[in-house]
Amino acid sequence: MAGQPPRTYRATEEGCVTVIRRSSKDIATERVLAFCEPVHARPMGQEHIREVGPEGFKYGGGIPVAALCGFNVVMGWDMQRPVTPEAVKTLAAPRAGDGHVWLCGGCASEALLLLDRADAKS
Ligand SMILES: [Zn+2]
Repeated sequence: MAGQPPRTYRATEEGCVTVIRRSSKDIATERVLAFCEPVHARPMGQEHIREVGPEGFKYGGGIPVAALCGFNVVMGWDMQRPVTPEAVKTLAAPRAGDGHVWLCGGCASEALLLLDRADAKS
């Protein structure tokens, strides 16, 4: 919408986050991230983060690509939760009580890099 300041990321209708980056030609490109679970998810398993492509969010029916860390989440599903720096840091921190970490460390690092880059003004 005209007149609104550009935002580095925003929640989409699906509840996830769009990362906006600017190329050298100052053309905005959007990268969408989503928390996701592999199809063999266990109660104490870890979530990963993937970059959502043209296929859009997959809350069922199978993810077609690997997670940011390279982990195979194909046939898994996306989580309906925004990928914000705060959410990533919270999920990547050991849970009080038993120290369980809900988010894959590789995906957390990659996602924070993408989100940090989106925050940087070019
Ligand atoms: Zn991962």
